[in-house]
Amino acid sequence: MGAIGRRRLLESMGILLATGRIPVGGVTAPSAEEGNAGMPLQLKDFEPRSMLHGPETVVLRSRYPVIDIHTHLSSVAKHAGGVGIGEEMEYFAPVSDLLPLMERKNIRIMVNLTGGVGKGLVEAIGKYQTPHPNRFLTFTEPWWERSNERGYSQFQADEIVRAHKAGARGLKVLKTLGLYLREKISTGPLVKVDDKRFDPMWEACGSLGIPVAIHVSDPEAFFLPIDRFNERFEELNNHPDWSFYGKDFPNNAEILEARNRVLARHPKTQFIVLHVGNDAENLPYVSECMDRFPNMHVEMGARIGELGRQPRMSRKFIEKYQDRILFGTDAVPHGTDTPQQVFTDQLYEIYYRFLETEDEYFDYAPAKVPPQGRWRIYGLGLPDEILKKVYYENAARLLQVKI
Ligand SMILES: [Zn+2]
Repeated sequence: MGAIGRRRLLESMGILLATGRIPVGGVTAPSAEEGNAGMPLQLKDFEPRSMLHGPETVVLRSRYPVIDIHTHLSSVAKHAGGVGIGEEMEYFAPVSDLLPLMERKNIRIMVNLTGGVGKGLVEAIGKYQTPHPNRFLTFTEPWWERSNERGYSQFQADEIVRAHKAGARGLKVLKTLGLYLREKISTGPLVKVDDKRFDPMWEACGSLGIPVAIHVSDPEAFFLPIDRFNERFEELNNHPDWSFYGKDFPNNAEILEARNRVLARHPKTQFIVLHVGNDAENLPYVSECMDRFPNMHVEMGARIGELGRQPRMSRKFIEKYQDRILFGTDAVPHGTDTPQQVFTDQLYEIYYRFLETEDEYFDYAPAKVPPQGRWRIYGLGLPDEILKKVYYENAARLLQVKI
């Protein structure tokens, strides 16, 4: 086969995309762009542009009003070994930065999950929820730093009641539980997700009728070596602290099973299991959990990359559990470190396009390179009835708000 014939064959197989040069019997054929082509290309510099021609629907506003159940407008300011310490808070944006974007994107309510504890919680509620009670809701968090003190279980349950009186509309549990919190807070053995000391806390939420938004574990790839086989190599390479491979970390399945035992023990408590049950890569397993636990709900924050690369299975999943699926983005104002979460118009347009259209093969995050793995996504084109439930009806029911 001559060089031209060989080039065509390789092109048809997609093999030439990366280098543009053809090795011919040890000699390299000249390329169109000498000087650049044929140089080894670093993965980080590879920004392929799709040559597909197809519909590109821009969805500026959602078809129905939105409750974004998963945002971070504030955070506990101090941490030790990944565990939030103290009541002091930091804030990512004032209300005046949020409302105009909410108007443009048809976001009726933003739920600030990380509202902190004690005085910090009261302050966070005062910043967003008090001046705009129809637009912002706040969740509280556990007092992790006290979790090894005597009497913690009762203290924590009482704190949930106090937080609720102060205006908190739910409890948020970060992946601190299961992956960071240790017996001596930041040292000693890891505390298990289903540790009994938290039982009164889960129960208190159930009695008050406020939901628990729980994030435990992380993507499956975060529990594997950061090597050439890891589909999230670049992401982990950029954030090595997100890796839970080795050391004394439990595996992903152990954490999820411990979470399931919590769901089973507290059937009256409603759990919003964030990030598609934190196993969007394994929807058959998440479905099994949804079947076993009627008190399990899921939201989709920072996981449309996963849902959108398996659109047929995702659509079936959403159809089947349409009364227990919630819209969330995990948005963080100015969170430029994680482009899949940065609070911008573009972020919401991508979510709306994913849910409402049947567009194919588009970016799941506003970034030059897909930040959670090098693939693109396909729209689900959900019907109106399901869109309404996902955008706001299911969340409104759990939060007991009217839209
Ligand atoms: Zn989050």
